Amino acid sequence: MNTFDPNYQSKNIEGKIVVALERISKAFRVLLWQEGKANALTPLQLQLLLFLKFHSPHKCKVNYLAKEFNVTKATISETVRLLSKKAYIFKETDPIDTRSYSIYLTDKGKQIVTKTSSFAGAIEKPIHTFTESQKEVLFQSLLELIEKLNKAGIITVQRMCFSCRFYQSDEKQDYCRLLQKPLRTNDIRIDCPEHETAV
Ligand code: SF4
Repeated sequence: MNTFDPNYQSKNIEGKIVVALERISKAFRVLLWQEGKANALTPLQLQLLLFLKFHSPHKCKVNYLAKEFNVTKATISETVRLLSKKAYIFKETDPIDTRSYSIYLTDKGKQIVTKTSSFAGAIEKPIHTFTESQKEVLFQSLLELIEKLNKAGIITVQRMCFSCRFYQSDEKQDYCRLLQKPLRTNDIRIDCPEHETAV
């Protein structure tokens, strides 16, 4: 099996799907890089600013961010130092554990996030042209793939329903015990603010 061999791909749809995902991932990285460059930010700096905007303070700490972005704590600390120098973020020490701190956006940081956050729109736009059932099948397949990659230890951080302690499932339906409502495919969250990892 060699996913990148066109002969293998011609006989295996699985190989074609992996290469298709790689193309989309490349497009995402190019858009991210272009947006960062236009605003004098590295891709990681831009991703970190976007993450800070949309996630709670307990996730905006060096340890969590290192896992989220699959980099070392030293890389995150250096990124935080550079973003502080540019006055996009500030740190607030945890009153209980003074060695730890949460990171927040400054007003200037919020402005740059507003300016840059639509860079992935070029990928979302064509998806809007899909039918509802096409979108549902695609989303369902991606959810299953992410769940399997998580179980294999390839995707580390997850905030999706399948790994949440409030998630419940039987043959009939999926259910969120926190929101107290059934979850249709379209309701399954991939980055849920209320997610708590099941133990
Ligand atoms: S709390 Fe969020 S992640 Fe957890 S089951 Fe409910 S909707 Fe899903």
